[in-house]
Amino acid sequence: MNIKNFGVIGAGQMGSGIAQVAAASGLNVIMHDITLEYASRGKDNIGKNLLRQLEKGKLTAERMDDILARITPSTDLANMQGVDFVVEAASEKEEIKFELFKRLDEICPTHTILASNTSSIPIGRIGARTGRPDKVIGMHFMNPVPVMQLVEIIKGLATSEETHQTTVELAKKLGKIPAEAGDFPGFIANRILLPMINEAIFCLYQGTGTREAIDTVMKLGMNHPMGPLTLADLIGLDTCLAILETLHYGLGDPKYRPCPLLRLYVESGWLGRKSGRGFYQY
Ligand code: NAD
Repeated sequence: MNIKNFGVIGAGQMGSGIAQVAAASGLNVIMHDITLEYASRGKDNIGKNLLRQLEKGKLTAERMDDILARITPSTDLANMQGVDFVVEAASEKEEIKFELFKRLDEICPTHTILASNTSSIPIGRIGARTGRPDKVIGMHFMNPVPVMQLVEIIKGLATSEETHQTTVELAKKLGKIPAEAGDFPGFIANRILLPMINEAIFCLYQGTGTREAIDTVMKLGMNHPMGPLTLADLIGLDTCLAILETLHYGLGDPKYRPCPLLRLYVESGWLGRKSGRGFYQY
């Protein structure tokens, strides 16, 4: 399929990153969020990212203008009626994604592929909310999207081979390296990453180490680019909690139970970088 018009749902840190790489690869992008403030903030963040590249001499002013001109913020889901491929990157809540996919199925043309950037929710469960489960697929980008090479590709039981091939080709066109993962909660990336982050939070909760000690041990001792508590703040503590709950419920193993300290932080509005406070202050 020749993809020209691309939709992104959610203009948060992931949605704006996906919109940026899609526009940079020459696609026309509609970026949708629930308010114009959120949708415009997503585009402003892309502008700031591109400006940093311009200042480093990695981008020309013409190229920056071209990328920005390709991105149209939107608050009306009906604007998705002309897109060939949608990536949903709204908040990690099942009820939000189920409703979005039901509506996208009604709005989008029959050829449109509906992908989700979900971190953990099985694709088959999302696809079952639509009349086109063969065209529903997982396309899980990593954060920050313009920097990270990997995209996990997840086929649901009903996803067609044609949808899969188109998605793999699109990932490559966006400059990413696709890796296949099975349709189980958390797929591969978060099945492995989140238990480690959760264990780091248990270490803090039980006084095994300070936040600095925990992050230093994993950074210098394991050669991780950042410590697990810093990484949790970057991902968003609400997203971390949502992923752990999906793992816990979906795999039925108590080893995935979220640390009570994580729940306390999220319930207190400490969501990490995006709220200005998490394990660290920003
Ligand atoms: P975020 O909180 O930065 O942004 C989510 C955006 O979705 C917000 O702007 C919110 O207003 C919007 N939204 C909520 N409901 C909506 C709706 N009904 N319609 C349109 N927009 C809606 O979150 P994020 O970190 O960008 O995560 C988005 C998705 O990407 C989640 O599914 C998350 O699990 C996944 N993801 C996150 C990371 C990460 O490191 N944060 C990495 C990979 C995947």
